[in-house]
Amino acid sequence: MQLRRVAVLGGGPGGLYAARLLKLAHPTCEVTVHEQGDPDTTFGFGVGLAAGTQRRLEAADPDTLRDLAAAGLRHDMTLQVGDDRVRVRNDRLIGVARTELLTILARHAEKAGVALEFGRRRAAGDLDADVVVAADGVSSATREAGPFGSRVDVGRGLYLWCATDITLPDAVFAPVETEHGVFVTHAYPYSGGRSTFLIETDGRTWRRAGFDATTAATPADASDEVSLRFLERIFAEQLRGNPLIGNRTRWLQFRTVHCDRWSDRNTVLLGDAAHTAHFSVGSGTKLAMEDAIALVEALRDEPGTGAAFARYEEVRRPAVERMQELSRRSRLWWESFPSRLDLPAARLMVAYMSRAGNVPLDRLAGTAPEVVAAALEQYAGAPASAGNPTDWVLDRPLSHGDLRFPNRTVDVDGLATLDVGVDDPWSDAGDALVEQARRGGGAGCRITGPPDRAALLTRLDVAERIRRETGALVVVEGSATFRDDLAAGLVSGRTDLVSLTGEAA
Ligand SMILES: Cc1cc2nc3c(=O)[nH]c(=O)nc-3n(C[C@H](O)[C@H](O)[C@H](O)COP(=O)(O)OP(=O)(O)OC[C@H]3O[C@@H](n4cnc5c(N)ncnc54)[C@H](O)[C@@H]3O)c2cc1C
Repeated sequence: MQLRRVAVLGGGPGGLYAARLLKLAHPTCEVTVHEQGDPDTTFGFGVGLAAGTQRRLEAADPDTLRDLAAAGLRHDMTLQVGDDRVRVRNDRLIGVARTELLTILARHAEKAGVALEFGRRRAAGDLDADVVVAADGVSSATREAGPFGSRVDVGRGLYLWCATDITLPDAVFAPVETEHGVFVTHAYPYSGGRSTFLIETDGRTWRRAGFDATTAATPADASDEVSLRFLERIFAEQLRGNPLIGNRTRWLQFRTVHCDRWSDRNTVLLGDAAHTAHFSVGSGTKLAMEDAIALVEALRDEPGTGAAFARYEEVRRPAVERMQELSRRSRLWWESFPSRLDLPAARLMVAYMSRAGNVPLDRLAGTAPEVVAAALEQYAGAPASAGNPTDWVLDRPLSHGDLRFPNRTVDVDGLATLDVGVDDPWSDAGDALVEQARRGGGAGCRITGPPDRAALLTRLDVAERIRRETGALVVVEGSATFRDDLAAGLVSGRTDLVSLTGEAA
């Protein structure tokens, strides 16, 4: 398609990358990025770019990827509970400072011939162009003003994003129990000798610590210093005594953005403006940059903007929705994280890796064999034999009170049946299921529900709540096709036993 003029609203990673790719694909087109901030004032600290994202960026624009990779810091991942810690290698995950990421993207955009306008807030409707790419972030005014059918789900937990002036050796996940409740950090190193500290807690703990008041008292352009001083005390070990640095840092609730459509006339939403994914799956930047690749390909290949926007959405929506579903599960897992602190670190790592169903036990055993071996030994009280971990896990005996089972797939008589059809195990409907299981008392419950995998994963989460909150024996029913998920659920403490249905049983 011939384009004469494109306006990009927002100079975040999505906007800058889309602008460069557009200019490279349409050299005669005038491409301008309109960014309200100044070039050297940005919020945030480090962002992670995983191997798959780097591959996609390499295919779309090897020059930019080369500079990003050179600026990034590779790191592994450690999970620490008290003194107990486990480590997983992650060869190609890199952390890049957001400032550096934006500097590189802006430089490459300018090199391609993009005009960058900083320091002025603009409205999509005021921009005179064939195409307006609205990459104006999670609070997109374009989205709010337009007919995009947007919906924002607000998370239950609170999080805060800050940093410190040391390079951690690994990404670290570490919970700390305080007199108010549990705070957990996801911390990861990035270029420039710094590390991001992303800290989460639940609403009750947050209020007990008085952070509702400190949040209300913190002006929009300042950081919540009271919270930062408290957090640097409780995470002193991970920080090695260093202070936490804020940058307009305050407690927030994560907002997941969904839109029924991503375009209207000549305007198309991109990145966080169109959709967000919880930070615990580290994918916001990835999604924004991958959107840019798909949008530019569609504008290059389709005859008109309408067809191009339809193609862009057709290509990106399935990937975005898959990531949003992973992110939803991951968010729910982190929001309920304090209930799992009794698990030893290796089992907790398996629970973490399988929290959204995307890393099966067998694959984790391939990349982190010593972690899975330790987790299996903690689960069964005996070292695992060589071979398929799923078979071995399902074949372990269980003692539950006075009951003895020869393996984890035996049929148990006399259990109450709980038919689960909820999406969110921690919702009111989830509370009602736990209550129902508690009232049922007796021998325990068998949890059944729809046959698909998504429903099975949710059943396992409901089962975990019931086990933990009532102490009842729990059996989760699921198709033998999903034996891996059921085995991961057993090792992660989500269920006691499983009941396999279907041909492969
Ligand atoms: C706590 C936290 C941790 C995260 N960690 C990661 C991570 O590890 N990995 C990762 O990939 N992502 C991470 N993200 C997400 C990531 O920061 C965003 O998803 C990503 O920056 C989205 O890019 P974007 O270009 O769509 O929007 P943004 O980066 O938000 O950029 C939007 C830009 O538009 C500008 N703008 C807005 N309105 C206007 C206007 N009217 N006129 C002019 N300019 C305007 C803004 O100033 C901004 O610069 C994290 C996010 C959070 C909150």
